[in-house]
Amino acid sequence: MDSIIIIGGGAAGLMTAYELSKHKHTVIILEAKNRLGGRIHTINDSSFSQPIEMGAEFIHGNLPLTLSLLNEAGIAYHTTAGNMFHLEKGKFKKQKEFNEGWGKLMKQMQELKQDIPLADFLNKYFGDDKYHELRESVKNFAGGFDLADISEASTKALYKEWNTEWEHQYRINGGYKLLIDYLEILCKENGCVIHTNCCVKKINWQKDEVNILTMCSRFFKSNKVVITVPVSVLKANAHSEDYIEFLPSIPQHIDAAKNIGYGDVIKILLEFNENFWNSAKKNVAFILTDEAVPTWWTQLPAESAILTGWIGGEKASSLKDNTDDEILKVALQSLANAFAMNIEDLKIKLKAFKIANWCKEADINGGYSFNTIKTVAARKTLQQPVNETIYFSGEALFEGTLMGTVEGALESGKKTALQVLKNL
Ligand SMILES: Cc1cc2nc3c(=O)[nH]c(=O)nc-3n(C[C@H](O)[C@H](O)[C@H](O)COP(=O)(O)OP(=O)(O)OC[C@H]3O[C@@H](n4cnc5c(N)ncnc54)[C@H](O)[C@@H]3O)c2cc1C
Repeated sequence: MDSIIIIGGGAAGLMTAYELSKHKHTVIILEAKNRLGGRIHTINDSSFSQPIEMGAEFIHGNLPLTLSLLNEAGIAYHTTAGNMFHLEKGKFKKQKEFNEGWGKLMKQMQELKQDIPLADFLNKYFGDDKYHELRESVKNFAGGFDLADISEASTKALYKEWNTEWEHQYRINGGYKLLIDYLEILCKENGCVIHTNCCVKKINWQKDEVNILTMCSRFFKSNKVVITVPVSVLKANAHSEDYIEFLPSIPQHIDAAKNIGYGDVIKILLEFNENFWNSAKKNVAFILTDEAVPTWWTQLPAESAILTGWIGGEKASSLKDNTDDEILKVALQSLANAFAMNIEDLKIKLKAFKIANWCKEADINGGYSFNTIKTVAARKTLQQPVNETIYFSGEALFEGTLMGTVEGALESGKKTALQVLKNL
């Protein structure tokens, strides 16, 4: 019987393990953290009135694999509700379909023949002064939503994504962790062994033989290895704490990982003693502002007093070295400005807070992947196993608009498992 080690116990790692363990192979998951889930991290903090999502929160549409797993597990989920507003100095304005030039921008993006980075595209076609506001809003959107650095991001990939309409969005009742718990149960039922606190440092390999050394000096042996760590870990240099050494080295694959974009994100969770945004406006789901923490959302349709702040891309990178208290201060000042409130009044209303600074999170170091103009080729390389022995999986390897999502990670895990099974 063949044995397979899976490095990383996030959505992709657990999905790969589940698919492989169905076929009675020996499957071992090695996860660096003391918990499974990776960028899925629901916490139950008693200072909050409900479980909160430090990482993934939404299901972006009727996504087949995520929803089928939830249905199979009997885990309930609900449709999000409400509208998007722009808020400035206490005045809510219904957010129009972005700003006026958006239609023109999308048309020009669609017509682009040869892919170029978004910054070059904007300079070439929308460089005129009259497009200043449009350029800024496109840059903010690409950074905020896709965590993309526009000097690298693929214009064609962003066009494809921005042109995709999401039907509904959902949240999981009780949080995304329930999906992770379910996958863990399925894996264990199939005999899969899971080791947490097991950070892989060195992979010594030859065809069909892998020897793995972990940070706590444990050795593991297998015939194949599936690596599901974030691309930030694959890109890490030899001096970084996250570095994984391959012996012999696999330069083609590591260089490919370097051509996949990976952006920063900070999520801010605040619970107040009252839902003050509802008195100003009903049905508020998303609030966009021009503040340092530009984006906020509520828990609608649930009537809760939780506001979630989101800083993505360059804006997150510039704040990442601050302490949680400093980030909280920036967040409260942003809200105070947007709502035209006194920051001291906001502080009095604040009941609980958590800062999820993913840029500083060991073994993850950021939010999720985006396409650079070299990513299509890079992904093809990473999808090819090394000598039928080392395989890669994870959200970054998913082709299409769901790269950077849980669905993308699950689908990638499933696909990699099939690839491994073929070679066993
Ligand atoms: C703040 C935030 C919000 C998000 N919101 C959404 C959302 O609303 N909807 C959505 O669909 N997606 C969202 N995402 C993206 C989604 O969470 C990810 O795409 C998905 O969870 C990635 O799964 P993965 O298995 O590929 O990687 P990960 O979840 O990162 O799993 C990789 C695992 O590898 C482990 N690891 C790293 N190095 C080592 C090592 N040396 N040895 C052993 N283990 C190691 C890590 O600890 C980690 O657990 C969000 C992400 C973030 C950060």
